[in-house]
Amino acid sequence: MANNIQAIRGMHDVLPDQTPLWQTTEQILREVLGCYGYSEIRLPIVEKTELFKRSIGEVTDIVEKEMYTFEDRNGDSLTLRPEGTAGCLRACLEHGLLHNQTHRLWYYGPMYRHERPQKGRYRQFIQLGVETYGMSGPDIDAELIVIMDRLWKKLGIRDKVRLELNSLGTVAERLVYRETLVDYFQNHLDSLDEDSLRRLKTNPLRILDTKNPAMQEVVANAPELMTYLGEDSLTHFTTLTATLDDLGISYTINPRLVRGLDYYSKTVFEWVTDELGSQGTVCAGGRYDSLIEQLGGKPNFAVGFAMGIERLLALLENSETLQLNSTVDVYMIRVGDLAEKVGFRFAEEIRNELPGLKLQVNCEGGSIKSQFKKADKSGALYAIILGEDEINRGVVSIKSLRNTQDQQQTLSQAQTCEYLKLAFNKS
Ligand code: ATP
Ligand code: MG
Repeated sequence: MANNIQAIRGMHDVLPDQTPLWQTTEQILREVLGCYGYSEIRLPIVEKTELFKRSIGEVTDIVEKEMYTFEDRNGDSLTLRPEGTAGCLRACLEHGLLHNQTHRLWYYGPMYRHERPQKGRYRQFIQLGVETYGMSGPDIDAELIVIMDRLWKKLGIRDKVRLELNSLGTVAERLVYRETLVDYFQNHLDSLDEDSLRRLKTNPLRILDTKNPAMQEVVANAPELMTYLGEDSLTHFTTLTATLDDLGISYTINPRLVRGLDYYSKTVFEWVTDELGSQGTVCAGGRYDSLIEQLGGKPNFAVGFAMGIERLLALLENSETLQLNSTVDVYMIRVGDLAEKVGFRFAEEIRNELPGLKLQVNCEGGSIKSQFKKADKSGALYAIILGEDEINRGVVSIKSLRNTQDQQQTLSQAQTCEYLKLAFNKS
């Protein structure tokens, strides 16, 4: 016999018992973003490889070893998007959306990175990305943080995450700092691991981001970028922190927060948790003004963030705040040929009358007992019963499946609709 074909390692199915949590979370994300007047943008999953090389930078983990790149049939090099920032900006430039305009955008969907799969790290994962364009000041940086603060609260996990902040200054300021940092690490070569020795030549700031416990000391004693910032960068940063103070949003300044990508400047931030081991960053972002020119646009301003939804859901797993929607509200039991026919018609009438109600009709027959079992399993709150007796009398029985105090009732079809409207608070 042929072997069963399995999903690709690191790419997961979301099974029906998990989708209510996904859907409820997605609904809350949309609501919160809606609160701030953000618009959705939908983007292709595949882009030209060049886009990511030019934006993310050749010497980052993503471009060096994580991209799913393949040749199209006509010989073009294409890549499954590893993140959304580059594609979003590509689209806005392509459609001329950045001329004298500001934008507040979000997108939601799968990203692809060839990483070693483990909890919170997959090869296909879902991100919510939020990007804003055309705004230079720290107030929009603050707004992005405020959005997340509201979202954590709404999801009931505010106490599980904390905010870390840093400023990377301008590209010029970072260049000066980079030299000092390289000098420092050159004097501590013994303390660097293999990865860091390589990064010393390619992307030395990234060494600060190491997860190697043996390197914590050498990294902790490294010179700090903050002391190399010019006045404009410093004012931007202190205005941001003052706004957060004013709003009562606490943060820690983490001088070693550099983010992996080359395109950031000034504000960078991460929302981190202690509950997911070394996959502790749930949401990360910052300002990336220079990427616009890097992709061929006129000088402009951009700041955004991306959140990993699988990591968010892992935090939500034990949350009692979320009320998950059931898939089925009412289950219709039909016994006998005539009941099957009448029931199908009646079900359509109920759906006309109560469009928001989730009504599942029993198919494939079965005894009344076996149908009740299926009704219970469906998660429905009520069963509607159309048996021989009901059909003969021209009525319907309705029974609560959750509240044993509720007596089974016999009603007309019209009364049943009224009953359900009251029970489910729908009109
Ligand atoms: P990490 O340091 O954990 O590798 P990153 O810096 O590569 O994260 P970003 O590129 O900033 O991550 O992506 C933003 C968010 O997307 C992360 O904070 C995380 O929540 C999520 N994310 C990134 N890579 C993965 C992955 N392979 N699987 C699941 N979620 C991911
Ligand atoms: Mg990564």
